[in-house]
Amino acid sequence: MPQPVLLDTISALRIWRNAERRDGKRVGLVPTMGALHHGHLSLVNVIREEAESVVASIFVNPTQFAPTEDFSKYPRAFERDLELLSEVDCDAVFAPQVSEMYPDGFSTAISLAGPATVGLEDKFRPTHFTGVATVVAKLLLQSNADVAVFGEKDYQQLAVIRQLVRDLDLRVTILGAPTIREEDGLAMSSRNVYLTGRERSVAPLIHQTLQEAAEAVRAGMPFDAIEREASAALTDAGFEVDYVAIRDAETLREPAKDAAPGTLRLLAAAKIGSTRLIDNIATE
Ligand code: AMP
Repeated sequence: MPQPVLLDTISALRIWRNAERRDGKRVGLVPTMGALHHGHLSLVNVIREEAESVVASIFVNPTQFAPTEDFSKYPRAFERDLELLSEVDCDAVFAPQVSEMYPDGFSTAISLAGPATVGLEDKFRPTHFTGVATVVAKLLLQSNADVAVFGEKDYQQLAVIRQLVRDLDLRVTILGAPTIREEDGLAMSSRNVYLTGRERSVAPLIHQTLQEAAEAVRAGMPFDAIEREASAALTDAGFEVDYVAIRDAETLREPAKDAAPGTLRLLAAAKIGSTRLIDNIATE
């Protein structure tokens, strides 16, 4: 595969994108924070179906981290990321500096409700989705992409972005891509490198617990009992549980007691040691 073109300014991105458009290509955007793994690379393959030209962005967005979170120690592996992207079919990499995205005097943020205020990630990371939505809106406008892809791994984020695009009339198609997992079920994440050997060995329990909970949903057990049992199983294994929740798969609100499994999503967030992991699965 040819090396992707490296773009580090918004104007370089726009010039590149205009040239691709002139050639009649649909442009696809894959936003990432780098430290790439197979989950990220799968997004490039998913978007290829809808776009003849693909740009991946690599930007560790400071505004989506709270002051107490891991912005400064978030894994960065730029050279390796470029190598990985050159092995998949990626045409360009947009990697701006923080000062390019947020010049002095930057003063705007997007205010959110709906799926961004349902008491899941937003309860534990109250400023997170404002940072995500603002940077994603900027990336979509800067790239003027025809299509952009986001992982179901960050299920609430995907719902927030779909809502953002709908509400702001952005002319972009949003694709969701399935979660790529390690062989033992652990969802791939850049943050998995933080796990110690012992933590790594118990981490797959989140996925296992979600699978068992999904089975219980299908068996017709009451939702609150399923949530309580799943949460207790994780706590017993040494996790500090933020939530295990059964929600409507579209709105992320609490479902009616008799909601059909096909309309639901099971979501969890828990800390093992100092690493916070999130995961989710369908219940059908
Ligand atoms: P991040 O670099 O963590 O911000 O993630 C960038 C994009 O990759 C987001 O759309 C994530 O949802 C997606 N992503 C992260 N991990 C996975 C995974 N294991 N499988 C599929 N997509 C993923």
